[in-house]
Amino acid sequence: MRYALVTGGSGGIGKAVCRKLAQMGFPVIIHYHKNEAIAREVKEEIETAGNHAELISFDVTDTQQVKTTLEAWKEKHENDYIAVLVNNAGISKDELMVWMEKENWRSVIDTNLNSFYNVTSGLLKDMITSKFGRIINMVSLSGQKGLPGQTNYAAAKAGVIGATKALAQEVGKKKVTVNAVAPGYIRTEMTQELDEKELKRLIPVNRFGTPEEVAETVGFLASDGASYITGEVIKINGGLYT
Ligand code: NDP
Repeated sequence: MRYALVTGGSGGIGKAVCRKLAQMGFPVIIHYHKNEAIAREVKEEIETAGNHAELISFDVTDTQQVKTTLEAWKEKHENDYIAVLVNNAGISKDELMVWMEKENWRSVIDTNLNSFYNVTSGLLKDMITSKFGRIINMVSLSGQKGLPGQTNYAAAKAGVIGATKALAQEVGKKKVTVNAVAPGYIRTEMTQELDEKELKRLIPVNRFGTPEEVAETVGFLASDGASYITGEVIKINGGLYT
């Protein structure tokens, strides 16, 4: 069976992506770090709809923990592999560069960029040998144009964009595609402190986006219909940056 793993499946965008991939027929592995209760709710919801879901937990910044947990999953699933990987877990710690402590730089780079290595490296070989894989990386408008107060976050997301383009060229022949999705302002916990009323004036469609609108694009990139799209960064930002 071809499974889909969504890191940060307990978060705003991750939940919607898990639901979408489950609706498409993928057995879904919902990853969480601290928020087990939410991950369980998503699992129950998916199962109630008649689809398959499992839970998994690790800290995406902990190389060894990610490796051990994914190896344990593989041992239990001899005839299955993770064919769709959505690298979605992420954090932001906004601060102007002049005030930024090293810890805020390090943790944002670790969670958003080093996590790409930690999770992807253990799953790539199975995708290559099975000659089918979809890697979808959640980046950001910030990694494309840069946003003030987000030097750390923009650097991490821009790093993932570079990795997306390089890896796409390494594995294209093996029918593994690697793409990135770059949301603008999406209504989730990450943006709940922002002033939507004020910011929406800058957005041509005049509102923040929804997690479901991001999940639609992830679903498309995971589908057979997207086989010829790789190394791309797809913007979902209501026209804020084109
Ligand atoms: P949320 O804050 O709602 O969710 C973040 C998710 O990341 C949670 O599931 C959380 O797990 C997980 N996570 C955080 N740190 C770790 C860690 N060290 N190890 C494992 N998991 C971790 O964020 P969003 O849903 O809004 O964001 C999802 C992705 O989309 C992120 O990569 C973000 O950068 C990106 N994005 C979001 C935008 C927005 O406007 N919301 C805009 C552009 C990009 P748990 O809660 O279980 O601890």
